[in-house]
Amino acid sequence: MHVIAIYPGTFDPMTVGHLDVAARASRMFDEIIVGVAASTKKNPFFSLEERVELAREITSPLPNVSVQPFNGLLMRFVKSVGGTVVVRGLRAISDFDYEVQIAGVNRHLDASVETMFIAAAQDYTFLSSSIVREIARHGGDYSDFVHPVVVDAFDKKYAAE
Ligand code: ADP
Repeated sequence: MHVIAIYPGTFDPMTVGHLDVAARASRMFDEIIVGVAASTKKNPFFSLEERVELAREITSPLPNVSVQPFNGLLMRFVKSVGGTVVVRGLRAISDFDYEVQIAGVNRHLDASVETMFIAAAQDYTFLSSSIVREIARHGGDYSDFVHPVVVDAFDKKYAAE
């Protein structure tokens, strides 16, 4: 059986914490599709195309990981690509409530798809895309938290402003 797992998120932008989850998941499943959600409600800093392109560059060393954008219901996207597992990362108790709620709803929508949680690595439990965006906005050094292509992307964005 060829198991396809979907790792969905906004990835605005992808951090080393996200990459760690994708890499660990890639050792457990045959194929991982990183699903970059349009997340228009969140009003992302990077466009959907930019977030997809960054995620593709960052995950390129992982041979069984690919990246696709999606819009709307996650479960519809999972079905459309033949996925049977949804992977989510868990950092702290604060993630838990929301994640369990979403997992429950998704299970209600389609009980044949399992949600699997990967505990954040100790070093990344405090790390989020919003913290990276905040440091970047104030001109601080966030280079330990992201791949160098993300630093370039922020530089380009701010230079264009
Ligand atoms: P969303 O908008 O769906 O929360 P994010 O891009 O913020 O999207 O996160 C995608 C997934 O990655 C979520 O399951 C989130 O909990 C997880 N995640 C985010 N940051 C980390 C991290 N530092 N370590 C492990 N998992 C993380």
